[in-house]
Amino acid sequence: MHPFAFSRVSTVTAALNAGARDGRYVAGGTTLVDLMRETVERPAHVVDINGLPYKDITVTRQGLHVGSLVRMSELAAHPEVRATYPVLSQALELSASAQLRNMASIGGNIMQRPRCPYFRDVHSACNRRDPGSGCDALRGDNRMQAILGTSTHCVATHPSDLAVALVALDAVIQVRGLDGTRSIPVQDFFLRPGDTPQSEHSLRPGELITSLTVPTGAHTRRSGYLKVRDRQSYEFALASAAVALDIRGGVVRGARVAVGGVGTVPWRLPRVEEALVGKRPGRRTWTDAAALAADGAVPLSENAFKVKLVERTVRRQLMTIGGQ
Ligand SMILES: Cc1cc2nc3c(=O)[nH]c(=O)nc-3n(C[C@H](O)[C@H](O)[C@H](O)COP(=O)(O)OP(=O)(O)OC[C@H]3O[C@@H](n4cnc5c(N)ncnc54)[C@H](O)[C@@H]3O)c2cc1C
Ligand code: SF4
Repeated sequence: MHPFAFSRVSTVTAALNAGARDGRYVAGGTTLVDLMRETVERPAHVVDINGLPYKDITVTRQGLHVGSLVRMSELAAHPEVRATYPVLSQALELSASAQLRNMASIGGNIMQRPRCPYFRDVHSACNRRDPGSGCDALRGDNRMQAILGTSTHCVATHPSDLAVALVALDAVIQVRGLDGTRSIPVQDFFLRPGDTPQSEHSLRPGELITSLTVPTGAHTRRSGYLKVRDRQSYEFALASAAVALDIRGGVVRGARVAVGGVGTVPWRLPRVEEALVGKRPGRRTWTDAAALAADGAVPLSENAFKVKLVERTVRRQLMTIGGQ
């Protein structure tokens, strides 16, 4: 680990001032400390933000409001979240391990870095860690890598399960910087790699995530998350699907579908959604819509299986949420 300065702040102003001086915020530390140990991250100044007042969960008729320092386990277990936003609870409960969820924050989960093994090995070529150095995953071990939204510069998947559910539900992220506050739709928050894979999100240097909001609607109660992974205990997704359906009068009135484990960012599926709206729930509707799940996929040497896997994951979750 490289030497670094450490400070613990109790006011937002102190946090932002420290963040502006090339500081790196730490909440649960479950990602940042690992990366610092591996010398992938070498911040000069680490700022503990746990003294800040971003720890509330509020549920109103308009939607859900979650402070960025709420722990993953806390949000997952919240009774109103379980009842009204089951897709969020399920995505969180299928993330990491119980010990990690008790420690890790919602803001940190959204901001976690890629799990690509070459990114975490400082001796490998990685355009995200070291722009312009190349990408060892392209011709190396790429079974876990993305098939959607990739570029010739990076093919790493976005690792957060929660972010997939947030993209499906049109969540908005509130951020604060020295210049004021702004709101960023979660769909615009995560950036595809293109030819600048080192830019992973639209947060400006020194900005803090303060909270996120999730609008409520007829679809949020009828929602859920399915995660397919190599083993039942904690593991990142090979493919996952967040589905939320508004079904009234025997017709699908609204559909939200996003997938994880296959995209370089949490991946919304508008074509699947369009294929569902106006249709009668049933096996044919689910199968036809899910067939569009891997639209535009560019598989690598070892991950072509994800094309069928993501289609089947979406179909299974449509059946579970919508009924057969
Ligand atoms: C073994 C293991 C298995 C895992 N499995 C899964 C999984 O299956 N699914 C999944 O989704 N995740 C998984 N994770 C990742 C885990 O969920 C994250 O490590 C955790 O959510 C990060 O939260 P944290 O509060 O500890 O973040 P930290 O490590 O404190 O911070 C992470 C990053 O976020 C930044 N940050 C933190 N808070 C803020 C804020 N408020 N504003 C701006 N920047 C901020 C930090 O500067 C840092 O860059 C796994 C992790 C491990 C170690
Ligand atoms: S896939 Fe992305 S994160 Fe992995 S080695 Fe290539 S550039 Fe780095």
